[in-house]
Amino acid sequence: MAHTHVIPISVLGKRNVNAHLLLGRRPVLVDTGVPGSGTKILRRIAEHGVDPGDLAAIVVTHAHIDHFGSAAELHAATGAPIVAHVADAGQYAAGRIREPYLPTGRFGRVLDRLPAFHVEAEPFVPQLLVDGPTGLHDFGVEARIVPTPGHTAGSISVLTDTGDLVAGDLVAGSFLGVLARRPANPPFHDDPVGNLASLQAMLALNPTALHVGHGGPLNPDRVRRWAVAEQRRLERLAKRGRMRSRADESAVSSAGS
Ligand SMILES: [Zn+2]
Ligand SMILES: [Zn+2]
Repeated sequence: MAHTHVIPISVLGKRNVNAHLLLGRRPVLVDTGVPGSGTKILRRIAEHGVDPGDLAAIVVTHAHIDHFGSAAELHAATGAPIVAHVADAGQYAAGRIREPYLPTGRFGRVLDRLPAFHVEAEPFVPQLLVDGPTGLHDFGVEARIVPTPGHTAGSISVLTDTGDLVAGDLVAGSFLGVLARRPANPPFHDDPVGNLASLQAMLALNPTALHVGHGGPLNPDRVRRWAVAEQRRLERLAKRGRMRSRADESAVSSAGS
């Protein structure tokens, strides 16, 4: 059985926006950067000996513009099927994120004002929509997709059989990866409590490293310590009635309708 390696593919900045290349019997790409990143990503994966036509699949971790932005372009260029979770399918079909973003802190509130975070992507319909754990053996890598909802409803992670976790925006390097190895929240979470539960569930599987969309890779023990502090912070916010979550907002809007 071929060992599956995880290779970060820097899309913007040093490691500010990442995709990841899984190399097993065949190559699989996880995430696709912002719109217009296709050529750059194909060039980067070619540096690792991957011919674009050999790509077995394009896994999209969630419907934020810096992850699904070039999925349609890369699918057209390579023919590889797009694999994503059904709960974010509406956003993929629209080519737009679910508005508004729910910032996790001051940094997110600043980024929310930047037009770059609200641009449209070329819409697409994933060739494979998953709604539960899904093995990727048939795509040539010894890994599986695990739903990790919270950051968005349709967020997924990819866990290799040797314990590398490609985690999307489940957690991030601080300030969109500027402090690459320091665990932090990404700028936005639809449901912070749900996301933390997903992160804790993944940590319980003892990953060897967390490969994230911004910065990283992150050390699991460091992420564990951060998650304990984050849990306390969320409990304090809830106590003060200051927790914002997409779940609450839909409850409010359905109660009002
Ligand atoms: Zn995101
Ligand atoms: Zn992101």
